[in-house]
Amino acid sequence: MAIKISSRQIRRFLEEIVGKNGVAVLEACQKPVIDEKISERTKLKLNTVRSVLNQLHYIGLVAYDREKNQKTNWYTYTWYARSDKIAEIVRNHLIQKLDELRDKLDYESSYVFYECDNKCEKLPFELAVEYDFKCPDCGGELRIIDNKSAIKEVVQDIKEIEELIERLKPKKKKKTTKKKAKKKTTKKKKTTKKKARRKGKK
Ligand SMILES: [Zn+2]
Repeated sequence: MAIKISSRQIRRFLEEIVGKNGVAVLEACQKPVIDEKISERTKLKLNTVRSVLNQLHYIGLVAYDREKNQKTNWYTYTWYARSDKIAEIVRNHLIQKLDELRDKLDYESSYVFYECDNKCEKLPFELAVEYDFKCPDCGGELRIIDNKSAIKEVVQDIKEIEELIERLKPKKKKKTTKKKAKKKTTKKKKTTKKKARRKGKK
């Protein structure tokens, strides 16, 4: 399933994986193209483009064809984005992210939090007691805070990511049907053998 990078949601998460330069390079090689051309299109230095291409190639988001010049013996590399891989790679990233968000939700909903007026750092009650309710950074008084909105935000993020993971799910189910079919045929063979034996005994 090819996913358009033009989707704002996909672009946001793709950027978390490959950075802004990574997304720019991916967009510049939607069709096979040489690295100089990518550099021209993205306005990135050729060295940067090459290093980004290597990173993208490592995670499987780009591939290349190479052609040897018979006169010079030099290779020309033509790069192209593997749009078919975007869904899979973004999905794996989201599955990991979902885990982190669930931990965060667990943390946010398990404690009562305290903070100073300068908002240096949010501390759970247990730690605030240890600091005698004085901020370890600025010395200001630690006051109890309402983290309902923080929890609401995490819940929202989790919901969005769960939906996207479902949407990016690969739709092939041929493998499982093949396995089932195999099991059935082996069963049939056994039963026919038994029947044959019985017949033989009679
Ligand atoms: Zn403080």
